[in-house]
Amino acid sequence: MSEKGFVIWLTGLPGSGKTTISEALRKYFESQGHKVENLDGDEVRRNLSAGAGFSKEERGRHALRVTYVARLLSRNGVVVIVSLISPYRSFRAKAREMIGDFVEVFVSCPLDVCIERDPKGLYKKALAGEITDLTGLQDPYEEPLSPEITLETHCSTVDDCVEQIVSKLKEMDHI
Ligand code: ADP
Repeated sequence: MSEKGFVIWLTGLPGSGKTTISEALRKYFESQGHKVENLDGDEVRRNLSAGAGFSKEERGRHALRVTYVARLLSRNGVVVIVSLISPYRSFRAKAREMIGDFVEVFVSCPLDVCIERDPKGLYKKALAGEITDLTGLQDPYEEPLSPEITLETHCSTVDDCVEQIVSKLKEMDHI
């Protein structure tokens, strides 16, 4: 007998808080005895998507790899936490269709706050012209129209964000 897995898909601008929240969520699920895996966009770009660029087409292929692995894991009872900018609605719609048990979380944060946080120094590089395709600044980000959850990370703590996700998952009968 195995518990049913599902996928929590965090989408948002660079610096909005996806990685931070997914780490905190992982700790929560581990503490509750769940099998859990994180699929972080930056990490996947270091292995499965090594060498992938940032055109719409390459971003799409990258998202499809993440979707595929998330589907394999979740159907084997793993709670999968995806943190991926996934800027296009069509990518996320495809992921939802392929995965089924899919919980879309919009990690919302105003662009100026993301620029101020700049945890990976990407905005600084883009503003200096060293990067030319940064989502939010030079490349489009299509906000989710009807995500299961929207987090406002500029005015909530990380713990509050985790709490909001957990209570929605309970409401949806995932946990
Ligand atoms: P992303 O993965 O979306 O690029 P990161 O998680 O790497 O973003 O960086 C987000 C930054 O914002 C971190 O420095 C984090 O400490 C900070 N932060 C402040 N408030 C929050 C919050 N409520 N949720 C997530 N991150 C937050």
